[in-house]
Amino acid sequence: MPATHAARRDLLRARLGELDAPAALVTRLVNVRYLTGFTGSNAALLVAADDADDGEGADVLATDGRYTTQSAQQAPDLPRLIDRRLVPTLAARAARAGLRRLAYESHQVTVDGLRMLTEAAPELELVSLRSAIEELRSVKDEGEIDLLRQACAIADRALAELIAAGGIRSGRSELQIARDLDSRMLDLGAEAVSFATIVASGPHSAIPHHAPTGRGIEPGDFVKLDFGAACAGYHSDMTRTIAFGQPAAWQREVYGLVADAQRIGREALVVGVECAAVDAAVRDRITADGHGEHYIHGLGHGVGLEIHEAPLLAKGATDRLRDRMPVTVEPGVYLEGRGGVRIEDTLVVRATGPELLTMTTKDLCIL
Ligand code: ZN
Ligand code: ZN
Repeated sequence: MPATHAARRDLLRARLGELDAPAALVTRLVNVRYLTGFTGSNAALLVAADDADDGEGADVLATDGRYTTQSAQQAPDLPRLIDRRLVPTLAARAARAGLRRLAYESHQVTVDGLRMLTEAAPELELVSLRSAIEELRSVKDEGEIDLLRQACAIADRALAELIAAGGIRSGRSELQIARDLDSRMLDLGAEAVSFATIVASGPHSAIPHHAPTGRGIEPGDFVKLDFGAACAGYHSDMTRTIAFGQPAAWQREVYGLVADAQRIGREALVVGVECAAVDAAVRDRITADGHGEHYIHGLGHGVGLEIHEAPLLAKGATDRLRDRMPVTVEPGVYLEGRGGVRIEDTLVVRATGPELLTMTTKDLCIL
């Protein structure tokens, strides 16, 4: 959709005015993709504050010879430069066009990359673009939200099918369950899984980002599944924790607490609210029940072209929620050596109230 990408570049152009920079050099691949549609593995983009210039001071996408055809197909509206030395070439071009300042992605460029940039165009004054593009990306358009909705629906269906097929059964290993879930998501149309699927059983469920092992699940376990599907580059993210066998009293108590805290988090997703305040509301609920020290991570994060992106919902976060921001809400309580519960949804912040994208029930599932 070239029109969408052009509109996004225009939004970045507006930010360049604020930075007093006549151009930006975009080198983070995911940001190049967002602004152009190009999905290749090697690219850089120059975005000019004054794109009316049709000379060397205009927008241009640079990539290497492997992507000549693909870049023409995916970014037909942009002039392209095929050159293996992307960054020095674009910097020299900007200097030749008479630009004196260049905004660059200082959070992404390596020390060597910065040296290359400086050597290619010593006359350019470099200023940091900071995370201007990540900020733009945090608010999605309806097309992006639709892709997230599709990705979440695939994950929902894959889990329902896994459970219906008896895929979570005694003796089956975490690895087997993870692979089963992954292949179901791919069969249902995911282009990839969002990230390495987490299946954590029994004491492993107390480890927030446990990597699946050969441990077979057994009655009395919590089985925590954290997984997602990717559709056209957009990632879903969901965690559910299942009781395998009749849950003990402590399991019911912890599950009930996390479910209530997670509800509080979802209900706190209101346009204009500070991300840190959403985190605090959930943390206070868990702390009130004496489990504050067992909740050892932030509340959530944005999702989109990356599985973790802006905004962060955590202590100290300075962002505020905005309309059409997709975020996760994922509190957890982890009791070392015994087990843990995390419940995670992907939702979209909306002026009319949050839209839930991950539909799987959060009532305690007992298998
Ligand atoms: Zn997750
Ligand atoms: Zn997450």
